[in-house]
Amino acid sequence: MIKANDMFYAKSSDAEIAEAGEYGGAVTTLLKFLLSEGIVDAVLAVEEGSDLYDAVPILIEDPEKVVGAAGSLHFGTLNLAKVVTRYLNGAQDMKIAVTVKPCDAMTMVELMKREKVNADNVIMVGLNCGGTMPPVKGRQMMEKFYEVDPDSVVKEEIAKGKLIVETEDGTEKEIPIDVLEDEGFGRRTNCRRCEVNIPRMADLACGNWGVIGPLAGKATFIEVCSPKGAEVLEKAKEAGVLDLEAPIPKGIEIREKIDGAMVKLADKWQNKDWEDVAGREILSVLTGYKDDFSRCLKCYGCREACPICYCEDCCLEANNGPDWLTKGELPPSPMFHMERMLHMVESCTNCGQCEEVCPAEIPLAKIWHEVNTKIKNTFGYTKGVGEGKPPIAYFSSEK
Ligand code: FAD
Repeated sequence: MIKANDMFYAKSSDAEIAEAGEYGGAVTTLLKFLLSEGIVDAVLAVEEGSDLYDAVPILIEDPEKVVGAAGSLHFGTLNLAKVVTRYLNGAQDMKIAVTVKPCDAMTMVELMKREKVNADNVIMVGLNCGGTMPPVKGRQMMEKFYEVDPDSVVKEEIAKGKLIVETEDGTEKEIPIDVLEDEGFGRRTNCRRCEVNIPRMADLACGNWGVIGPLAGKATFIEVCSPKGAEVLEKAKEAGVLDLEAPIPKGIEIREKIDGAMVKLADKWQNKDWEDVAGREILSVLTGYKDDFSRCLKCYGCREACPICYCEDCCLEANNGPDWLTKGELPPSPMFHMERMLHMVESCTNCGQCEEVCPAEIPLAKIWHEVNTKIKNTFGYTKGVGEGKPPIAYFSSEK
C-alpha cells in the first residue's frame, strides 16, 4: 500500500498524455482519473492563454478535456487559491482537484485554517516550483539575451541553475539564471526570495528534479505528502493509468541537493533585498517604506489581487471601518496599509500578486514578505503549513 512519504518515478500509461505532459504526464493522468472516477466534480488547472507568456485558470468537468491543459506554464501570474475562494465558493459545495505551486498550496492551507476553503473537498496536486517569470520582462529577455523572437519560444525550463529556452526550430539556448537576475530579468522578485520549492503541504508533490537514468525528462518524481495523496495514487496505480517505479537513490539525493541550493539562493536574495533593513522590528519596516507608500493611489488593486483578503465588506472602503482610518485622502493615511497588514500579513505566502498589479510600483510583496518573516521569527508562526491552528490575527467572518 502506498503511504505518506513514499516516493516514485511516475509517467502516464497513455502515450498521448505522456507526450502532451511536461514530464511524462503523470499529473494530467491523475487529474483525468479523479474526474472520470467521480472522485472529484471538477479539476482546476492552468492553460495557455493568448501565448506562452499568458496563463489562465481553467475549470474542467469533462475528463477528455484535461489533456488540453497539460504542460507547465512558467510565466503565469496566477494564484489559484483566489479562484477557489472567489469563484468556487471555497469548494464548499463541490469536490475539486487543483494543481498548486508552493505559494498556491500554502495559500490554500492558510484559507483552510481561516475556514474559507473546505479542506475535505480539495485534493491538492502540488507542482515543485523554482520560480515563475513576469510576462512582459520575459518577452524582453527573449529578445535581449536569447536573441530570439519571443513568439518562437516553445519551451522554457530552469535546470542546473540555467534558464533553458527552446525555439520552434528545435534550437536550445541556456543562460545562467544569476546572470539574467543580476541584470533585472529572470524570475519574479518574490520568487527569487522564496524558500519553498517542494509543496509538501499539498497532497502530492510532483516535479522533474531527481529523475535520472532512462526516465530522465520522461517521468515525474512524485513525493506522497498526505494520506489523501497516498489514497489517490494507490487508486490510480490499481487502475493501471500510471506507471510507477521506485526512484533511483542517487536521484533522491540530487533532488534534495537542488532543493538545498535553491533555498540558499533564496536566502541570498532575501539578504540582498532586505539588507538595509536587517534587524529592524516590524513597524519600522513600514516606516522604512514611507516614500514608497506615499505613491499609493488607493486603487485597491493589492486588496483585489491578494488571495488572503476575503471580507465582503472591506473596512478600507469609504463608509466602513474605524474612525481613526481617515477616508478621502491621497495618498491614504499609513493606517490604510496597517489595516491591510493586520488582515493578511501573518498568512502572506509571498505570492507576489499585490506587487504585480500595483500601478504605483510599490514593492508590496517585498514589504509583506519581510514583515511575514519577522512574524515567523518573533512568534514562531509559519504560514502555509500545519492544520487547525488559526493565525494570530484570525478574523472570524460570518459573511
Ligand atoms: P503535466 O501532465 O504536464 O500536468 C501539469 C499540470 O500543471 C497541468 O494540469 C497544468 O494545467 C498545470 N499547470 C501548468 N502551469 C501551471 C501553473 N503555473 N500553476 C499551476 N498549475 C499549472 N519541477 C521541478 O522539479 N523543479 C522546478 O523548478 C519546477 N518548476 C516549475 C515551475 C512552474 C511554474 C511549474 C508550473 C512547474 C514546475 N515544476 C518544477 C514541475 C514540472 O514542470 C512538472 O509540472 C511536473 O514534473 C509534472 O509533470 P507532468 O508531465 O506530470 O505534468
